[in-house]
Amino acid sequence: MSYISIDHLSLSYGNNLVLKDISLAVEKGELVTLLGPSGCGKSTLLRVFAGLEVFQKGDISIDGEIVNDVAPKDRNIGMVFQSYALFPNMTVFDNVAFGLTIKKVSKKEIEEKVMNVLELVNLADKKDFYIHQLSGGQQQRISLARSLVTEPKFLLLDEPLSALDAKIRKQLQMDIRALQKKLGITMIFVTHDQEEAMILSDRIFVMNEGKIVQDALPAELYEKPKNEFVAGFIGNYNILTRQQKQRLAPTFSAEKLAEKYALRAELIKLTPAENTETIDAFFENYTILGSTIRCYFNSGGIPLTVDVLNSTVDVTTLQNQTQLFIDYRSFVPLQS
Ligand code: ADP
Repeated sequence: MSYISIDHLSLSYGNNLVLKDISLAVEKGELVTLLGPSGCGKSTLLRVFAGLEVFQKGDISIDGEIVNDVAPKDRNIGMVFQSYALFPNMTVFDNVAFGLTIKKVSKKEIEEKVMNVLELVNLADKKDFYIHQLSGGQQQRISLARSLVTEPKFLLLDEPLSALDAKIRKQLQMDIRALQKKLGITMIFVTHDQEEAMILSDRIFVMNEGKIVQDALPAELYEKPKNEFVAGFIGNYNILTRQQKQRLAPTFSAEKLAEKYALRAELIKLTPAENTETIDAFFENYTILGSTIRCYFNSGGIPLTVDVLNSTVDVTTLQNQTQLFIDYRSFVPLQS
């Protein structure tokens, strides 16, 4: 039996059906993300785990017990939000200690537990600082420490890194992952950023319009998106109709045909390799993304995006008329 499970859950706000027959399972010690565009229902679903939403249909179980009617405070869950919700007029120590103070834990135990979690987030030396004396990244670590100090069964994180700049955000992604592995704590993390989901997760639930459209391991999601929405959301895919795919790589008679196919931009090559089809294309443009150069081609009216590793090709020497090479196994059939 799974540690946390949701079974055929639906939730509406008035006439607006926001969660549509959601079923999912999370195992103990897993870090899963709910990934999807803004408004698809991620935060609402996270709030269901916390007991903060009233839903009309379905069940939620934790540790084998249906908890539909268990109050949030009795669920022993930690939450971390985008806004840090820290008390500005209290020190770091007092902020972290807050959850224990209201539980009337002894002073000695508070001291021990707070210093323990501050060590975990590498901020023990800031215990006497006030919140405004810390950077955004440090404040978010304090939020994390504060939610861990009460030793919750699992932790819910709602876009906790969205307000931080790219470098700090990357660092905290690594820190959260390391901390989660070290403590073995189950985490459910909400994000709209596919790269963040890939970096952090054991498993990803992709959501769209109130439904879970794919539940997969990060690599699986990247390599085998289930449908056009996931392919569009996850990576830099070329989406091709059946006719376009036929023109680029004629189908074998045994192959089951799909209406649409996804073709990853880095699987189109500028140099020939084994099993590749040769395609004439017109080189239109490129953008340097850093380690990758994104090149735009057109093959007889079919636009193709091709990603090449920077330094492996000198794009300035690419001819207008050129050849591309595609392994015929690279096309991923999509469900409609
Ligand atoms: P996400 O986290 O994916 O951005 P949300 O779960 O916040 O999406 O919202 C999903 C949908 O539910 C949106 O259409 C939003 O407007 C609606 N919604 C969220 N909270 C409420 C609420 N308290 N009352 C009414 N509608 C809400």
